[in-house]
Amino acid sequence: MIKPWFETDKCFINGEWVAPLSGEKLPLEDPSTGAEIGHIARGKKDDVDAAVAAAEAAMKGEWGRMPAFERGRLLTKIGRMVLERVDELAELEAHDVGKPLKQARNDAVALARYMEFYGGAADKIHGETIPYLDGYTVYTLREPHGVTGHIVPWNYPMQIIGRSVGAALTMGNAAVLKPAEEACLTALAFAAICEEAGMPRGALNVVPGLGEEAGAALSSHPGINHISFTGSVGVGMLIQQAAAKNVVPVTLELGGKSPQVVFADADLEKALPFLVNAGIQNAGQTCSASSRILVQKDIYRDVIARMSERYRALKVGPAMEDLDVGPLISARQKEIVSGFLDFADENGIAARGEIVGSAPAGGHYLAPALLADIDPNHKLAQDEIFGPVQAVIPFETEEDAVAIANGTDYGLVAGVWTRDGARQMRLAKAIRTGQVFINNYGAGGGVELPFGGIGKSGHGREKGFEALYGFSVLKTVAALHG
Ligand code: NAD
Repeated sequence: MIKPWFETDKCFINGEWVAPLSGEKLPLEDPSTGAEIGHIARGKKDDVDAAVAAAEAAMKGEWGRMPAFERGRLLTKIGRMVLERVDELAELEAHDVGKPLKQARNDAVALARYMEFYGGAADKIHGETIPYLDGYTVYTLREPHGVTGHIVPWNYPMQIIGRSVGAALTMGNAAVLKPAEEACLTALAFAAICEEAGMPRGALNVVPGLGEEAGAALSSHPGINHISFTGSVGVGMLIQQAAAKNVVPVTLELGGKSPQVVFADADLEKALPFLVNAGIQNAGQTCSASSRILVQKDIYRDVIARMSERYRALKVGPAMEDLDVGPLISARQKEIVSGFLDFADENGIAARGEIVGSAPAGGHYLAPALLADIDPNHKLAQDEIFGPVQAVIPFETEEDAVAIANGTDYGLVAGVWTRDGARQMRLAKAIRTGQVFINNYGAGGGVELPFGGIGKSGHGREKGFEALYGFSVLKTVAALHG
C-alpha cells in the first residue's frame, strides 16, 4: 500500500493531528488479505467533546465569518486537490475497503464532484422576500445549524463524506465526522486535504473510533445541532433516539431492498448490465444495491438464463487486481451473507461467480449468487443482505409488480424497464421510494440528484440542492416600519 501522507492513528481536531486522549488505537485490516495494515485512533467521549468545542469555536471565529463565496472557493479548491490525488485516494480505499481499484477511483472522483457542485452552489442559496401586511417588509435568511455531526459507514466513505460533510460545510456549518472503524483512511485523507487547502481550524474535525464509543458520544452530544447518519436501521434508531433527547434534526440514510422491475417489452440488451452491476457493485455492500429483480413471466426464463451467463463470468479477487468484485469488508460480513445463502437451497441458486486462484486465503471472498424463483415474502426477498446476492422474482401484471416492489419495509431506489411511456409514468408514481430510474439504474450515482429513503430506508435528503436546504435553517424576519 502507498504510505499515507497523514497520520493514520490520530484524530484531526481544531486543525491539529492529535492522539486520542486515551492513547488507545484500533487495528485496520485489508479485506483482500486479512492482514493488518495499520492503526487508527480509538477516539472516545473526551475526544468528541474536544472536537465539538473546536467546531463551536470555529462558528464564532474565522470560519463563521467567512463569506459564502469564499467558502465556495475553498470547497472548489478542495475538489481540485482531491482530483490531483485520485489515484492515491483510490489505492487507500482499495486497501481499506477491499473495493476494486476502478470502483474506488470512481468514489474519489465523486468526492471531487461533490466539492465542485457544492462549492459552486455556496453563494447561490438565497432567502426570499414575502409580501405581507401593509407597512411590513418580510424576508427569510438561510442560516447554518451550527455544529453538525456526521456518522458514516465503511462502504462508500468518500462519497458519503462528500454528500454530507460537503453540503454541511457549504452552508457554513462546522462539522464533526466519525468515520466507520472498519474504514477510516480516506476520511483522514480528506481532512489532510482540507487542512492543506487552508480550511480554518475547527471547521472540520474527525474523530475515528468505535460506534458505541465515539459514535454514541457524538450523536448524544448536547453541542451538536444536526446529525447526519448513514448506516444500518438498528443504529439509525439509536441515533434518532439520541437526537430526540436533544431535540435536534436528524437525517437518516439507512438500508434498502431496492427492486428493478423488468417488463416483457423492455430493451433487455440495455437492461442486462444494469440488472447485474446494481447487485454486485462494491460486492453488493451498497445501500442502493438492487437486490430484487422483478421479471414479467413471459421473459422470466430468458432473463434468468442471460443473467446467469453474466454471473458465471464474474471474477472475484483482490481489490488491487481490479476485477468485477472484491472481498467483503470483514469475516463477520462474510458470515452474515453466507448465512443468508444457507436459506437458498441448491435449486434456488441459478448461478455463481468465480473466486480467482490468486485470491489470498485470508481475504473475505464470496462468489456472487443469483437466486431464482424467490417468493416475494421470503427472508431472501425481504431482508437487506448487503452482499453480492440478487433474488429474481416473477410477476404477471403491472399491478402485481407494484405490489411486490412496495412489499418490503424499505424504499430507497427503484428501476423500471419498459418501452411503454405511460407505464413508466404510472410506475414512477406508484412505487414508494426515494428515487426511481426509468430504463437505467443509478446506484450511488448523481451528485446533483436528491437521494434518501422512505420507510426503514430513512428520512431526509442528501445530494443535490435538497441537501443544502437540509443543512440550513430558515429564519423569517418581519420588520414593521409603517
Ligand atoms: P452501522 O450502522 O453498523 O455503522 C455505521 C456507522 O455508525 C459507523 O460509523 C459506526 O461506527 C457507527 N455506529 C455504530 N453503532 C453506533 C452507536 N451505537 N451510536 C452511534 N454510532 C454508531 O452500519 P454498517 O454496517 O457500517 O453499514 C451498513 C449499513 O449502512 C447497511 O444497512 C446499509 O444499507 C447502510 N447504508 C446506507 C446508505 C444510504 O445512503 N442509505 C449508504 C451506505 C450504507
